[in-house]
Amino acid sequence: MAQSDLPKHNASSYLAEAQLIKQGAEARVYRGRLLGRSVIIKERFPKLYRHPAVDEKLTRRRTTQEVRSILRCRRAGINAPVVYFVDYTTHCIFLEDIVHSVSVRDHIVSAQASGETTEHLQTLADKMGEILAQMHNEDVVHGDLTTSNMLLVNGAENKNINLVLIDFGLSFISALPEDKGVDLYVLEKAFLSTHPNTEALFKRLLKSYTASSKKAPAVIKKLDEVRLRGRKRSMVG
Ligand code: AMP
Repeated sequence: MAQSDLPKHNASSYLAEAQLIKQGAEARVYRGRLLGRSVIIKERFPKLYRHPAVDEKLTRRRTTQEVRSILRCRRAGINAPVVYFVDYTTHCIFLEDIVHSVSVRDHIVSAQASGETTEHLQTLADKMGEILAQMHNEDVVHGDLTTSNMLLVNGAENKNINLVLIDFGLSFISALPEDKGVDLYVLEKAFLSTHPNTEALFKRLLKSYTASSKKAPAVIKKLDEVRLRGRKRSMVG
């Protein structure tokens, strides 16, 4: 949709009517409506401690990178929200609202609390590994992989696991195995600290990643190196 197609309003007036759902350091996330649809609006606000020209350039770059990564994923058939509209004046991205979804984080937490069989979680780990490998095969590096940034559509009721990746705010395009290894390392750290006793589950995710990734040996080698660096750093203090 072209900017001129936005009916009489500008992005700010949509924000005024939207509900704030997350206040981050870089951006605010709202749920609102656009042309009769429920939308998620991500607004990057100015950082007052930066020179305005530098800030404008950085914010624009981040917005562009986020949109580019989402589109690249979608083109490859990887589920990510539809981008409805981008306003580069107010740095707002209007995204498809993934309705009837829960974050993988919340899903794992409640599955663990209810003592649910590990079988479903294993299938979920397989799916996560497969999708992340597909994303890396497209040279998209997410930059902030956590179980909160993966949404599970229709929760546990849906037998065919439908995962949607969100929050590409720190993403970039790179073919380097190191960048992909770091991406997995960030997820590993987040995963194991958010979900205790899930080492086996994460191993399963990596196994599935390895099966679907075009460059698994190089990426896993880098992951091992980054882990080692992390351990050395924590030993030194
Ligand atoms: P983010 O900063 O992009 O991670 O968004 C913050 C929160 O908003 C997420 O943890 C989700 O709960 C929710 N959210 C973000 N994008 C979407 C989306 N496209 N559909 C549904 N919920 C979303």
